[in-house]
Amino acid sequence: MSRFLDPRFAGFEAYTPGEQPRDRRYIKLNTNESPYPPGPAVLAAVDASALADLRLYSDPTQTALREALAGFLNGEFAGLALEKENIFVSNGSDDILNFAFLAFSGEGTTVLFPDISYGFYEVFAEFHGCSYRRIPLREDYTIDLADYRAVPGKKLIVFANPNAPTGIALSAGEIEALLQAEPDSLVLVDEAYVDFGAESAMGLLAKYDNLLVARTYSKSASLAGARLGYAAGSLAVIEDLEKIKYSTNPYNVNRMTQAAGLAVLREWGYYRENCVKIAETREKTAEALREMGCEVLPSKSNFLFVSCLPALGGEEAYLGLREKGILVRWWSRPEIRDRFRVTIGTPEEMESFLAALKALMGGKSDE
Ligand SMILES: *Cc1c(COP(=O)(O)O)cnc(C)c1O
Repeated sequence: MSRFLDPRFAGFEAYTPGEQPRDRRYIKLNTNESPYPPGPAVLAAVDASALADLRLYSDPTQTALREALAGFLNGEFAGLALEKENIFVSNGSDDILNFAFLAFSGEGTTVLFPDISYGFYEVFAEFHGCSYRRIPLREDYTIDLADYRAVPGKKLIVFANPNAPTGIALSAGEIEALLQAEPDSLVLVDEAYVDFGAESAMGLLAKYDNLLVARTYSKSASLAGARLGYAAGSLAVIEDLEKIKYSTNPYNVNRMTQAAGLAVLREWGYYRENCVKIAETREKTAEALREMGCEVLPSKSNFLFVSCLPALGGEEAYLGLREKGILVRWWSRPEIRDRFRVTIGTPEEMESFLAALKALMGGKSDE
């Protein structure tokens, strides 16, 4: 820490992203990226002429991309009539979460999010000095939205659906009941993993102006490195986010990423097929893990949250797999330290993962 740092950040704990080690080639199953590359339309969109255009600023209104996203969502969800003004795009959905915590958590508002969820929620809540509460999950790791309703007053309610790192999803019906009961609170549904099999809340935008749905191109659209996220919400809520964007970084999405994001929508069938493949691989992997004696939560995402107790603790599994060239994610928090999270890769990668885990578990029981 330098002597120049604002003391209010002195004790601040930043978010720790999943490791990206360079010491050897790993099978990377630790940060929920897609194992499949972007499709041909993306590769064509980010060509030499796009590179030559980098001398020009990107479009700060992001008109082409936002119009295409509105049209895409209207096509996917019956009853929606979104316009470009209902869409906010940003440099990854983390950026959207940051803006939303900044914009919608003022004096008199309590921010609520699950106790076990995406680690960034608490980082943003601390960073923006929000008054916030972490709401515990049920014993079986599910979210009980009644607990959120039980907190009095005006709220910003944030959760990932499916949740991370559990992979467990809420139904759109449960989310609708919350929206109905809480007209004066904003509900931010983080749908980073929705394309792998959960029910989206997006269609509820036709009826509720207290809903903001955030999505990312990082997982299902194979563009984690491009940094692109979007949110859909009421005209007023999106206008608020735009105001913050124009007050911090108007060119928040670069030219190549805007072009890549547009191209993805033109070949969405390719990504949808990849999601189906990943969901199939997930189910096969879960079955194999259960056969090996591990316990696996029911996941609707592109990862599994696994316990191999009593044979193998969470940290042991993480370190043992790492030694064998396979990265998974492990957290030391007491409530989840017995588990690890494994991203669903290609079928071949999952074979390697299962073989390595089996060897670790076998080695243990021979002792
Ligand atoms: C990966 C992830 C994000 C962040 O996505 P980016 O668009 O890459 O910033 C947001 N929320 C959840 C729950 C995630 O897992």
